[in-house]
This record gives sequence, structure tokens and C-alpha cells, in this order.
Amino acid sequence: MSSHPQTLAIDFDGVIHAYSRGWQDGTIYDPPLPGTLEALEHLTKTYAVFIHTTRDATTVACWLADHGFDTMVDVPGPDHPKREFWNETGVLLVTDRKLPAIAYIDDRGIRFTTWDQALLDLAQVM
Ligand SMILES: [Mg+2]
Repeated sequence: MSSHPQTLAIDFDGVIHAYSRGWQDGTIYDPPLPGTLEALEHLTKTYAVFIHTTRDATTVACWLADHGFDTMVDVPGPDHPKREFWNETGVLLVTDRKLPAIAYIDDRGIRFTTWDQALLDLAQVM
């Protein structure tokens, strides 16, 4: 375990949870997408991985725990605020915030290089 691992951000819906029918009533109804568990297992060995979601972080953390992962939720306590960064390997942090990371794995991301290219890519999905 490195003392300074790099941080990776992973979106939940559409990347980990298949999310085949959209939000519905907010329940997590699908199994993980193929390859998810193996990828997370592999990545958490080297990187500090956090899962970002607009869902309730505890609900997502429980679902990940049910699939065999050590998890932690980004919830402020009486003597600690929400985290500014995540740097632990072996534990998935679940948060509703986009913390600093070397890469963001997201099913709806548009990779920015220039505004001309970003607007063209956006037009493809509209
Ligand atoms: Mg998504």
C-alpha cells in the first residue's frame, strides 16, 4: 500500500450500477455492469478510488459492501467536515461530491480539449 496513491473517481449510475431503467424511485435495481467487481477489486489495490453519486451515500455504500467491498461514506461528523480529498487504497469512499482525481470515469462525460470540440461532442448526444 503506497503512502501517496493517486486518486480515481468513478461514477455510480451507468458505470457500476447498470441503471438500465433510469432513476425510477431511487432504488438500486440492477446488478453491477459486467467487469465492475473485477475492475474495482483491481483498481482499489493501487489507487485511492472514490465513487461519486447523487444518491444517498450510505445506500450506495451498503450495496457495494453487499458485493464484497470495504466502504466509507463522506458524511461530516461533529468533529470533522466532509473530505477535501481521498487517498486511501483498499476502501471505496462514497461521496456526493467531485473530489480531486487524476481521472473521472463517467458514462456521461465529455472529454474537454477545446470548446469547439466540446460543443461538437455535446451536439452528438443532444
Ligand atoms: Mg452516470
